[in-house]
Amino acid sequence: FKVPKAVNEPVNSYEPNSDAVKSLLGKYKEMNDQEPIEVPMYIGSKEVTTENKKPLTSPHDHQKVLGHYNYGEKKHVEEAIAAAMNAKEKWANLPWEERASIFLKAADLISGPYRDKINAATMLGQSKNVYQTEIDAACETADFFRFNVQYMSELYEEQPESSPGVWNRLEWRPLEGFVLAITPFNFTAIAANLPSAPAMLGNVVVWKPAESQIYSANVIMEVFKEAGVPAGVINMVTTGGSNIGDVVFKHKDFTGLHFTGSTGVFRSLWKTIANNIENYKSYPRIVGETGGKDFIMVHPSAKALEVATAIARGAFEFQGQKCSAASRAYIPNNLWEDVKTQVLEQVNSFKIGSPEDTTNFVTAVINEKAFDSIAEYIDYAKESKDAEIIAGGNYDKSEGYFIDPTIIVTTDPKFKTMVEEIFGPVITIYVYDEDKFEDTMTLLDETSEYALTGSIISQDRYAINLALEKLRDSAGNFYINDKPTGAVVGQQPFGGARGSGTNDKAGAKLNLLRWVSARTIKETF
Ligand code: NAP
Repeated sequence: FKVPKAVNEPVNSYEPNSDAVKSLLGKYKEMNDQEPIEVPMYIGSKEVTTENKKPLTSPHDHQKVLGHYNYGEKKHVEEAIAAAMNAKEKWANLPWEERASIFLKAADLISGPYRDKINAATMLGQSKNVYQTEIDAACETADFFRFNVQYMSELYEEQPESSPGVWNRLEWRPLEGFVLAITPFNFTAIAANLPSAPAMLGNVVVWKPAESQIYSANVIMEVFKEAGVPAGVINMVTTGGSNIGDVVFKHKDFTGLHFTGSTGVFRSLWKTIANNIENYKSYPRIVGETGGKDFIMVHPSAKALEVATAIARGAFEFQGQKCSAASRAYIPNNLWEDVKTQVLEQVNSFKIGSPEDTTNFVTAVINEKAFDSIAEYIDYAKESKDAEIIAGGNYDKSEGYFIDPTIIVTTDPKFKTMVEEIFGPVITIYVYDEDKFEDTMTLLDETSEYALTGSIISQDRYAINLALEKLRDSAGNFYINDKPTGAVVGQQPFGGARGSGTNDKAGAKLNLLRWVSARTIKETF
């Protein structure tokens, strides 16, 4: 069999008066105006509700209740594992072409009849503006499904050499047991990819979405169902982390963790898994994409306008709540005044507000916890003698969690906001002596606890080459003459090392390899 060659889903126009935007805003209004919905847990063939209902609200309008979700208990996690294990044998034995066709259909549903719904749900529940949601929810989700199907088919074709009288075969089997997928709030596509990638390869999955993403997660489950994912293959449980961990990590059939989220949570999960290692039948596969402190390194030969644009877009698109968002920049003193003028011009022109207004560049951050944490970093900078705030610095949570795009300039390269992940619309700039390009890169590398994304901006090829060498381990995704954000499935496999993750590259064959346990068969004639 040959599966259709994957191509990236074309991004719809997000011009304010385009048909695509009108249709999306129509759906947004319809969903915004409807009665609050109830999101069940999806366990086996059942849609499960509980007495414990929790509200789902809009970050840009936190009094707006979009719906309620059902908070699960440990017994629901146990039921989800049982449902998964029950579905396992039939699912694993289904020819892979059948599994492929289910996820190709899911891609067509998400990019077709469900496009407006998944996009509007992401706008309402996660406050993404029209173009942010189109790129994330519709296009990247469809891309993950289609490219993973293609990579799966290529993987299954890979076979070892044989010799006269001997036929060697590799049987690509799913892992023995069930996989736990834990997903973050910030990308609907990641939430769709983490349970579906292992499932595609014949695994069964218990999925815990982030509380702040449950509204769009519900649409993903609707799509899985309509596409024909059988009951029990992907079970969505909406509960707190400890309810999940207490049950899953003690279970003998736990076989893998597919996680995206913060470094601290991943480390604590890894420790719990390690403490239970004797309980498991197999060594669990642990795949995690975690935090970042992504950088822009500027060479004295760079053009000021390019640097300013990379900062403005890299730091503030998606409210800085992209794991790849530019969060620190190193700028030579010969360029600084020019860069400063141009970046302030761009940032001061950004409009901030609700996502349904297509002229708003920046919308609200995800929730009160995130808002308070980001505001604390801004206050820290305001009170420090080593830093100056040259743009933004204001925040307001009276109606929604709005934070102005904020630029901090520091004289200390180890300043708190220069090294810690903030995950919001804040970037810190360190201006270095133009003769110290190489030393500054050494400093950058030494202060990189994370290694997710980074970029070098330079007109000088020797400097670019030096940066590639010196910053080899500081970023899993490295950009030349660009902002350090934006990874298209099938084009820039995404993931980082150090505190940023296990670097298994989402949207690539490397990731899929973690969800198979191959059996080698040697037959002698
Ligand atoms: P988070 O707070 O770490 O949460 C991630 C997931 O873990 C959520 O589903 C969360 O559930 C769950 N969780 C929290 N504590 C848990 C526990 N003790 N046991 C089990 N699950 C637990 O991260 P986030 O705020 O959603 O996302 C932002 C972070 O993700 C940032 O650090 C960002 O850099 C990172 N990220 C990385 C990548 C990448 O590719 N490297 C991509 C996207 C995001 P609740 O929400 O219900 O608490």
